[in-house]
Amino acid sequence: MKELLSNINSQIRHCQYCRLYETRTHAVCGEGIAPSKFMFIAQAPGRTEDAESKILVGPSGKVFDDLMCEVGLQREEIYITNLLKCFLPKCRKPRTDEINTCYHLYLKKEIELVKPEIIITLGYHVSKFIFKIYGLKIPTRIDFREAFGKLHISKNKKIVPVRHPATVVHKSKQFSKLVKDYSIIKTLHTECPLIDNCKQHKNFNQGLLPINFVKANCFGDWFSCKFYN
Ligand code: SF4
Ligand code: SF4
Repeated sequence: MKELLSNINSQIRHCQYCRLYETRTHAVCGEGIAPSKFMFIAQAPGRTEDAESKILVGPSGKVFDDLMCEVGLQREEIYITNLLKCFLPKCRKPRTDEINTCYHLYLKKEIELVKPEIIITLGYHVSKFIFKIYGLKIPTRIDFREAFGKLHISKNKKIVPVRHPATVVHKSKQFSKLVKDYSIIKTLHTECPLIDNCKQHKNFNQGLLPINFVKANCFGDWFSCKFYN
């Protein structure tokens, strides 16, 4: 596993498959443990990451570390990567061809190797792309505000879109919104604490409760389950 990821990383470091190689200083590889329950996907390296060749170490990285503190996770327990491995000049939006190229060359393989139970997508562009890949209905940009911080289930994958830490770098008042989005991650650490004595869950064991309900609630966001509260 380590060797396969390391092969992918050395391809990333020398990649020239899209125009972004012309303006980057370094291509930035994913980091963390594999396999991992949680895989975080950010958009692309920022200026500091591009200069230092490390993921989420700039101002967004500091916000990300504060958020990990809030949810009780260490970087060593997760896998973090970017949708695009190279800096976007003038911090412009990612283009569809760049996303498709980088995903099929690298991110797709990283997901196969890391085998995350839960993918956490940072920001609108990453969330929209991953929703498309996993066949989820894509909300409009405005409706994504409602989708952030919630669990979405498709193709055997749990996906949680959250606002990108970079939003706080520009508007510090946004931090509390991010804490709210990320708080679901604490719940997703564990199965529902009522599982052994819950009548509804017993219905599942007797084939009376749909598997998707159980994935979304008993082994998912149990804190929001109507039978929990
Ligand atoms: S963004 Fe991805 S596909 Fe484009 S040059 Fe960088 S590593 Fe290669
Ligand atoms: S999530 Fe809901 S249905 Fe499942 S065990 Fe907990 S309370 Fe019961």
